[in-house]
Amino acid sequence: MTTDLNNDVSARLEAAKKDYAALLEKNLKLDLTRGKPSARQLDLANDLLGLPGDHGFRAADGTDCRNYGGGQGLPELRAIFAELLQVPASQLLAQGNSSLELMHDSVVHSLLGVLPGAERRWADEERIAFLCPVPGYDRHFDLCQRFGIEMIPVALTADGPDMAEVERLVSEDAGIKGIWCVPKYSNPDGTTYSDETVRRLAAMTTAAPDFRIFWDNAYAVHHLTDEEVQVADILSACAQAGNPDRVFVFGSTSKVTLAGAGVAFFGSSEANVKWLLGHSGKRSIGPDKINHLRHVLFLRDADGVRAHMRKHREIIQPKFDVVQRVFGKQLDGLATWSQPKGGYFVTLNVPDGCAKDVVAKAKEAGIALTPAGSTHPYKDDPADSVIRIAPTFPDMAELEQAIDGVATCVRLVGYEKLTR
Ligand code: PLP
Repeated sequence: MTTDLNNDVSARLEAAKKDYAALLEKNLKLDLTRGKPSARQLDLANDLLGLPGDHGFRAADGTDCRNYGGGQGLPELRAIFAELLQVPASQLLAQGNSSLELMHDSVVHSLLGVLPGAERRWADEERIAFLCPVPGYDRHFDLCQRFGIEMIPVALTADGPDMAEVERLVSEDAGIKGIWCVPKYSNPDGTTYSDETVRRLAAMTTAAPDFRIFWDNAYAVHHLTDEEVQVADILSACAQAGNPDRVFVFGSTSKVTLAGAGVAFFGSSEANVKWLLGHSGKRSIGPDKINHLRHVLFLRDADGVRAHMRKHREIIQPKFDVVQRVFGKQLDGLATWSQPKGGYFVTLNVPDGCAKDVVAKAKEAGIALTPAGSTHPYKDDPADSVIRIAPTFPDMAELEQAIDGVATCVRLVGYEKLTR
């Protein structure tokens, strides 16, 4: 480092130390950990709570939604989300309130039952591994860990997973049975897969005959800009490539209506849908069709969903703007961060070896951040540089304070490292 630059960094460190001391004095108690909708967002769906109300309990075909049955879910709700999740309604199931639950069950049924195209149950394989694009969603990784599924990280590029690496790995290793994909506005980077990535995922040669893409389209309609980014239709791409059973599509209304009382969806080939229904039928005599009916009455159609999501955008876009503004002002040249066009997160990349220290300093100052490493399999971010920021839940004043505080911690730890 030149003397000038050295002096400059030392001065910046001194300023950061002062700001951090002032931050500690504020005795904050703020939380930037989980990507939850705020109460104001949930209020947008309050009318759901009074439904079906006077409409009564009958579905369009006369089904009494109060009763057992209808394992596939209400047809009129499946029709609404067929378009949004790019799955024909006949191949789309509407189920309980959580798509994570459906991902969990899909893994469990693959372990304990024989998938279409499989030679044996996954539980009877010597080894099972999943590819995990990083940074990624911690609950996907926790699920793998729970069932002893080995996780192999692959880099997430601006176009999606590093496809040359994915193709190489899946073609050589029959133990690799799956890949986690959040194809649109990914958690936590906000990345959307390119059409070419979707095509290559659908067409690649896999050593495992029962390889599955876990296509977690959690943010299919969660736009933050006018661009309303689209992702290519993976189910059709797989069918066209001669791999019709390759993909499981997941989605939910958790961040459309109510996070704890929405509806989750599973879409796939006819064979896979039949396979899942065969197993889920042993577990339940049918989903909550009254909740399905409520959602139909409230959302009406795909345009109704889009219109509702614009109301969410009005609430959360200003929060993402705060993150961009504060980081832009304080961290330019020291850290980088994603500028998502949708979804729920911003990824903050701090200098290597600093993420854990930043999170610890923030904790001391009363700002809870998702633990460093959570974005990687086994909680191990080898560069110790990625921090996930979730700006939706706090109100604007709290968020401004919290983001400002995080930026102070990054400056403190970052400049300290540079002067070492
Ligand atoms: N998938 C991703 C990528 C998520 O970020 C989340 C929640 O943060 C979920 C799934 C959870 O979905 P659900 O509420 O439908 O279980």
